[in-house]
Amino acid sequence: MPNHQNPLSPADGYRGRFAPSPTGPLHAGSLVAALGSWLDARKNQGKWLLRIEDIDAPRTVPGADQEIMRQLLACGLSWDEEVTWQSRYTEPYQSALERLNGLGMIYPCTCSRQTILSALETQGITPARNQEIVYPGICRPPVVRTYECELGSPSNSAWRLALPPNSVIEFTDRALGKQRQNLNQEVGDFVLRRRDGLFTYQLAVVVDDAKQGITHVVRGQDLLGNTARQIYLQNVLGYSTPQYLHLPLVLDQHGEKLSKQTLASAIQTEDAKQSLNELRKAATHLGLQNLPDGESVSIGEWLYAATQAWNKSLTFS
Ligand code: GLU
Ligand code: ZN
Repeated sequence: MPNHQNPLSPADGYRGRFAPSPTGPLHAGSLVAALGSWLDARKNQGKWLLRIEDIDAPRTVPGADQEIMRQLLACGLSWDEEVTWQSRYTEPYQSALERLNGLGMIYPCTCSRQTILSALETQGITPARNQEIVYPGICRPPVVRTYECELGSPSNSAWRLALPPNSVIEFTDRALGKQRQNLNQEVGDFVLRRRDGLFTYQLAVVVDDAKQGITHVVRGQDLLGNTARQIYLQNVLGYSTPQYLHLPLVLDQHGEKLSKQTLASAIQTEDAKQSLNELRKAATHLGLQNLPDGESVSIGEWLYAATQAWNKSLTFS
């Protein structure tokens, strides 16, 4: 087993999830995350939940959730329990934010992106594209207190988490080993509720993973840099921390992660042959070997063999 200290048994109640943002159909990269998380859950006789992360309404593409579900089922990746949509029930995010306010851990911020970039520039810092913009604390009060006001929109201010000094998070990724992030230096006080009133991914994912009792998070390596923030939030909210496994990304010919921005094409799942072909590519990416080939194998048989092969595959190159 990947986790040698703590071999899993069904009694441990493994609960995993796949949490796509419905910004478009599944592409080769998102199928790797779906398949890897599904195999890990099935291998451990656990549950695999599907959560549609549509909290960022402006990025949500109508119908993409239905298409993702259709693609998953076409690939035989069925889920347990009811699908959840983040946008449909936001009270838990608000109450988590209010709890953090009660702890004197958040403060309002009206900075625009440009204000932040200008402030950084005066410090000689110009973040590169795709690089984290470390918030320089412009709106942070000297003493963070509990605010009496409504924490919601329309207030036109974002709410940021006030990180205490030396907020260093360490965790062990099941494939990548020891990870460490100094949140003060590498992230800064991050946003939990945006100026437009939307809760951020960081807050929503932590609240949902806790609410759904998720014990194992298996997802793409593009999210590795978010994990320390999420563990930090779990700690302050008193939630337990799942085990993390970050899977190798699928890159395009320019070495960029596949995404809607790079116009990644949807996986082809019109018939079983196409679906199996996509599954096979994802499995190769995950380092799974000796799976049944040929056209006569059914998706069910193939997934069974892939599940058997899964625990040998955790040494990704
Ligand atoms: N919704 C996120 C995404 O699609 C993934 C969240 C997660 O797995 O933690 O990038
Ligand atoms: Zn500000």
